[in-house]
Amino acid sequence: MVNKLLVHWLEETVDKISERNLTELTLSTGKTPSGHVHIGILRETIICDALRRVFEEKGSKINSYLFMDDFDAAKRFPYYIDEKFQKEYLGKPFALIPCPFENCGCESYGTHFGNELISTFKYFGIKNEIIWSYRLYQKKEMQEKIKISLDNTNQIKEILKKYILPTLDDERKKLFKETQKTWIPVMAICDKCEKIQDRDKDGTIHPNRVTKYLNKEQEVLYECPACGYKGQLSIYSGKLKLNWRIDWPAKWALFKTTCEPAGKDHSVKGGAYDTGLEICQKIFKYEGPIKLPYEWLRLGEQDMKTSKGIVFTPQKYLELADPELYRMLILRTNPMKHISLRIEEIPQYYDYYEKMENIFYSLEQPESKEEFNFYKYLYPLTKVNDILDTKPIRIPLKLLIFLSQMQNILSLEKLYKKGISSLRDKESQNSISINEFKFLLRRTENWVNEVKKLIDIIKDDKVKRNILSKIDIFTIPETIDNDLIKNLSEDQLGGLMLFRSYFMQNNDLDADSIQNKIFTIAKEEQDIPARKMFEAFYLVLLGKKFGPRLGAFLLMLDKTWFLKRLNQILDENHR
Ligand SMILES: [Zn+2]
Ligand SMILES: [Zn+2]
Repeated sequence: MVNKLLVHWLEETVDKISERNLTELTLSTGKTPSGHVHIGILRETIICDALRRVFEEKGSKINSYLFMDDFDAAKRFPYYIDEKFQKEYLGKPFALIPCPFENCGCESYGTHFGNELISTFKYFGIKNEIIWSYRLYQKKEMQEKIKISLDNTNQIKEILKKYILPTLDDERKKLFKETQKTWIPVMAICDKCEKIQDRDKDGTIHPNRVTKYLNKEQEVLYECPACGYKGQLSIYSGKLKLNWRIDWPAKWALFKTTCEPAGKDHSVKGGAYDTGLEICQKIFKYEGPIKLPYEWLRLGEQDMKTSKGIVFTPQKYLELADPELYRMLILRTNPMKHISLRIEEIPQYYDYYEKMENIFYSLEQPESKEEFNFYKYLYPLTKVNDILDTKPIRIPLKLLIFLSQMQNILSLEKLYKKGISSLRDKESQNSISINEFKFLLRRTENWVNEVKKLIDIIKDDKVKRNILSKIDIFTIPETIDNDLIKNLSEDQLGGLMLFRSYFMQNNDLDADSIQNKIFTIAKEEQDIPARKMFEAFYLVLLGKKFGPRLGAFLLMLDKTWFLKRLNQILDENHR
C-alpha cells in the first residue's frame, strides 16, 4: 500500500478494509434524534453508502447500519420546541418522550425526528438498516455488554484515565480523579421519574449513574439526581444504558463493525474513538473498526447544529436541488477537508456533474488520465438510480431556471414545449413527461426563491453582485409602471418600433441575430449607445434597467406575449 497512487480517496479505506480479508463486513454510523437532523449527517452516511457499493461490487456481504441513538437523554431541546414541553421532559431518553407535535401519531420524540431523516434516504440512494438504540438495549445480547462492563469497571477506568487525563488542565484533572472514585460505566432510567440525568440551573449535567453493582444478584443500585428516588434494577431490565464512551465500542463489538466514519471531535487524539478502540479490544475482545475521520459540512459560512442555529434538513435540500449533486459534492471531496454547501452554487455543481458525466460516457475529452480515472470511479457512486448505457436525458438547469421564472406569463404546456425543445431528438423529448417537467420546474422555482432570500440578507454588495452575475434571476411583472416608460426617449421608443417590425417579419431567429439587430438599431439607425437600447428592452420587460442576456431571453418568451407587451407600451406613448 506504500506510495500507491490512488484513483480516489475512498480507495485508502477500501484497501484497509480489504486487508482484513473478510467475506462479510459491517459499516456503521450513528445519530441522536434530538431535533430536526441537518444535512451534515449525510456526509458520513453517503461515505458509508459508497463503501457499501464498492464492496458489493466485489461480491462481499455488507451490513450497513445507522444507529439511531434514541436512548440518549434530552440534555437540551431545540428552540422550536415548546418551553413547557422542554421543562417536563428534560433529562428523559428521547425514546420515552412523546412526539412534541399534536396529532402526529409518532411513537416518541426520537421516532419523530429519526423517521424524518430516514424517510429521505431513498431519494439520496442510501441503503442502510436502522438500529434503534433503545430497542437494542431491550435485547439480551446488548445487556450482556452491560454485564461485561460492570465486571470490568476498574479496567475501563484505567483505559479512560490513560487517554483523558493528559488532555486536561490541573483543575479538571482533580475533578476527573474525584469522579472516578465512585464512577460506574452504567446509567439507569429512574423508576419513578423516567429521567436518566438531571441538569442544574447552571447547566451542569448529573447523570443517573449506577452507585453500586450487586454482582451476585446481577442488579444495580441508583439514586436519582432528578427526584431523589433510590432504586434497584436488574441488568436485564432494559432500563440501563452504558456511558457513551463504552456504548460505542460495545456496539462495535456486538455488530463486528469493520468501519465507522467519525466527526473530527471524536477522532482527535484521546477522543472517544481512541478510547473506544482500546475498550473494544481489551474489554469486549474485538479488534474494532477502521477509523475514518471527517470534517464538518457547513452551510455557506455557517456551522450547522441540531440544537441551535440554522436547520437545513435533507428534506429541505430535496425541495431545492438534485440529490445526485449532493452525493457528488460529498464524494468528490476528501473527508478531511471541510465542505461548504452553497445553495447559490447549485449551477456550478450541476456543471461539474455534467462534465463528469460527459467524460464517463466518452462524450468529452478528459484533461488527463488521472481525471478520467477519478470521474470513472466517482460517477457510479453519485448515482441514485441505475447507471444507464447512454447519458441520461436532462433539461439543462440554466433553461429550467429561466422557465421557472416565466410561469406568470406562460402556461405549463408552453413552458414544457420550450423545455423539451432543447433536447436533441423526438425520442429524448418523449422521455420527459409533463409531470416530471412540472416537478423539475417546481424544484427550480423553490431554488430561485431560496437564492433570492439569500441575496436579500447579504450585506456586502460585492458578494451580492458576484452571485447575481452567475445566476439569471428576474421577475416579469404583469404590468409595467407608466412612469418608468415615460422616461424612455424618442430614440429609444423609435428603436423599439424598428425592432417590433423586424421581430414580426422574421421567424426562426436565433439569439445572436437578435442581439446583433439591437446593436445595429442603436448604432446605425438611432445613433444612441447600445446600452441605452438594451435598457429600453429591460424596462419594457422587467421594469428595471438590466436583466439576463437579451437575445436568449427574448427567444424564451412567447412571441405573442412579447408583441402584445410592446404594442401596449408603444401605442400608449403615441397617444
Ligand atoms: Zn411526530
Ligand atoms: Zn427520578
